[in-house]
Amino acid sequence: EHPTFFKLLIVSTVSGGGLLTFSDASPFQGLITESSQNEGKKKKVVVLGTGWAGTSFLKNLKSSSYDVQVVSPNNFFAFTPLLPSVTNGTVEARSIVEPIRNIVKKKPYNVEFKEAECYEIDPVNKKVYCRSNQSSTLDGIEEFTVDYDVLILAMGARVNTFNTPGVEEHAHFLKPGKEILKPRLDLTLQEVGDAQRLRKSIIDCYERASLPSVSEEEKKRVMHFVVVGGGPTGVEYAAELHDLAFDDMAKLYPSAKDYLKITLLEAGDHILNMFDKRITTFATEKFQRDGIDVKTGSMVVKVSDKDISTKERKTGEIVSVPYGVVLWSTGIATRPVVRDFMNHIGQAKRRVLATDEWLRVEGCEDVYALGDCATINQRKVMEDIAAIFRKADKTNTGALDLKDFKEVVRHICERYPQVELYLQKNKLKSFDALLKNAQGDDKKQIDIETFKKALSEVDSQMKSLPPTAQVAAQQGEYLAKCFNRKELCEKNPEGPLRFRASGRHQFHPFRYRHFGQFAPLGGEQTAAQLPGDWVSIGHSAQWLWYSVYASKLVSWRTRMLVISDWSRKFIFGRDSSKI
Ligand code: FAD
Repeated sequence: EHPTFFKLLIVSTVSGGGLLTFSDASPFQGLITESSQNEGKKKKVVVLGTGWAGTSFLKNLKSSSYDVQVVSPNNFFAFTPLLPSVTNGTVEARSIVEPIRNIVKKKPYNVEFKEAECYEIDPVNKKVYCRSNQSSTLDGIEEFTVDYDVLILAMGARVNTFNTPGVEEHAHFLKPGKEILKPRLDLTLQEVGDAQRLRKSIIDCYERASLPSVSEEEKKRVMHFVVVGGGPTGVEYAAELHDLAFDDMAKLYPSAKDYLKITLLEAGDHILNMFDKRITTFATEKFQRDGIDVKTGSMVVKVSDKDISTKERKTGEIVSVPYGVVLWSTGIATRPVVRDFMNHIGQAKRRVLATDEWLRVEGCEDVYALGDCATINQRKVMEDIAAIFRKADKTNTGALDLKDFKEVVRHICERYPQVELYLQKNKLKSFDALLKNAQGDDKKQIDIETFKKALSEVDSQMKSLPPTAQVAAQQGEYLAKCFNRKELCEKNPEGPLRFRASGRHQFHPFRYRHFGQFAPLGGEQTAAQLPGDWVSIGHSAQWLWYSVYASKLVSWRTRMLVISDWSRKFIFGRDSSKI
């Protein structure tokens, strides 16, 4: 039994109650086979992208009532968390990719894959325009259109260069940096290809620094490896590079090792800022001990072919240092094709494509967006949260009993895990203060105005869901389950009660479950931050990392390959050949 208060909240959310401005139509209405009109005709579902979100959708879709067309410039799924390991030869590129045709071959739905890139979306005529470099002519590009009834955007994002001069030309990325198809198709410019190119560049630098004719100054330059961005990917890459240099390359290139320098540049105050402070401190100290130069408050303003220029926040000084290889890893930006689509559907002013909580693109019919290419509209979430509080204020006194207030916070956290993430990270600062004040108070009530203040702190600082594989995979799975369920609802109109609800209430909104995050720090040590503020750093967390990532790999084939790569590294060391 729910307490009355909870019933009220549930009724208020379920009945709409003015909380949400969406229409009451089912978010998956477009999927209903209009059997009387189109007997036997299946809905055409077009999926753009074969990354975490797209692949998770395809893996979990079990309904046979759809014709699925998949368009992606990659005919494989790549396990991105192991990309940094590909850059130093710990794991082979082939071990972390699975052909998409393998993934979908035994699925009950009709599926076709097209290796191409979508360059325009026409939501009015429900068409996507695509092009491929699989051409019969030497420099021609094959172009074609695909019609859809339902479109799923899972195109991920590109790296954010913040328009810093020279970055696109001279830096390496682990995500596509330049626009893939301009001026011509270059389907190799993808994450896995980038990781392999980066590895080759590092080995090139070692080879060059070992040549007798190269000057001391030039050797110092080529052996200076710079990582820009102190997020998890940048930190992991710097740690992997350090391991490669000291475990393997130092023995193979004895004359080059003395020139080695690794620098990690971060514009903010500290590295790994989305992690617990204990992890940030440990990582910074470990890097100092390892000789990795961590420079915080250092913003890159220009990259030329041989020098990287930074502006130091404290002094305002511009410093220019020579480098051999630079890896750019500073967050993500919207792909141009998604940007054009946003302009088309009235989202020109937004930074990222907005969806509602059912992952429907706002301002557009029958289009869903998942993973890094979209975000759930935060404004609506905050309106909803405020309304939940107002509904709980049954007596209309502008204040809530402490018990009710705690229920409100619990309900909000359940419904919006991103709020919980924010509250966890900030140690419930504002809400804790509220609770403490109220406890000391005789009335034991929370004033609505004070709550609003605390809420506005959350509002201004709460970030949308992080752009991670965890979010993308859960969104793909959620959407596939809704599609499967839609079929069950139609097949069982008189069936179990849970299938009989109508409109959007047949489907609960997307809810993210956070399982924690890792930051590998090199030397067989990892930092793990798990739900409930549980932090573990060291060798045991590294073993946890090995087991979690092995279990998350997409197939038994890739699992076996990666485990054998890890074993090979332990026995024979990393491979330093350029192939
Ligand atoms: P992606 O996985 O990027 O997939 C996008 C797909 O769309 C690709 O198949 C691409 O080829 C295709 N595509 C692109 N353009 C077009 C187009 N025009 N038309 C059709 N298809 C197109 N997250 C974690 O949770 N844990 C980690 O440890 C982690 N480590 C990472 C390490 C690295 C080096 C990187 C780069 C990312 C890491 N991430 C990690 C983040 C994670 O990879 C992303 O959040 C995730 O890939 C997002 O999934 P997605 O499906 O939205 O996009």
